[in-house]
Amino acid sequence: MPEASFSCQRCGHCCQGQGGIILTAHDRERLARHLNLDTPAMLESCAETAGDKIRLRMGADGFCIFFVQGQGCGVHAGRPDICRAWPYFRGNLVDASSWEMIQSDCPGVNPAAGHGCFVSQGVDYLYAHGLVHEPGPDAPCALVLDPALKRRLA
Ligand code: SF4
Ligand code: SF4
Repeated sequence: MPEASFSCQRCGHCCQGQGGIILTAHDRERLARHLNLDTPAMLESCAETAGDKIRLRMGADGFCIFFVQGQGCGVHAGRPDICRAWPYFRGNLVDASSWEMIQSDCPGVNPAAGHGCFVSQGVDYLYAHGLVHEPGPDAPCALVLDPALKRRLA
């Protein structure tokens, strides 16, 4: 049985900082439903536009607007794909040095498992949870896999 390449320690580091939490159309619908709002009302209260993308806003504390100190994600069941997929982002899958660098920010990544294990478990996880996106204006770039990592789905 291979070691687990990742096990979240709930430190909250990945919920801090501006900009990365892109909302796809599916994310917007799911999050609005989770909050019992219609999509325009959810976007008005929680999101902002950045170029051609829509992303979650940050709170005054520098964390995502939904992060609750001491508890974690306040919308766990409604969180966006990008949050579900971390740390199995394309850059960390294709580049072992990126995988090494994220270990200082994300204590859930297990260095002992090795990058190869991280890649195979990560790709399995992304497909199993429907987190692989096709390129497009709505797609989070981190979830568009390189051809070498893509699988044909039956
Ligand atoms: S930084 Fe890593 S270990 Fe910490 S909450 Fe995020 S995913 Fe979990
Ligand atoms: S939606 Fe939840 S998991 Fe995603 S960044 Fe915000 S607090 Fe973190």
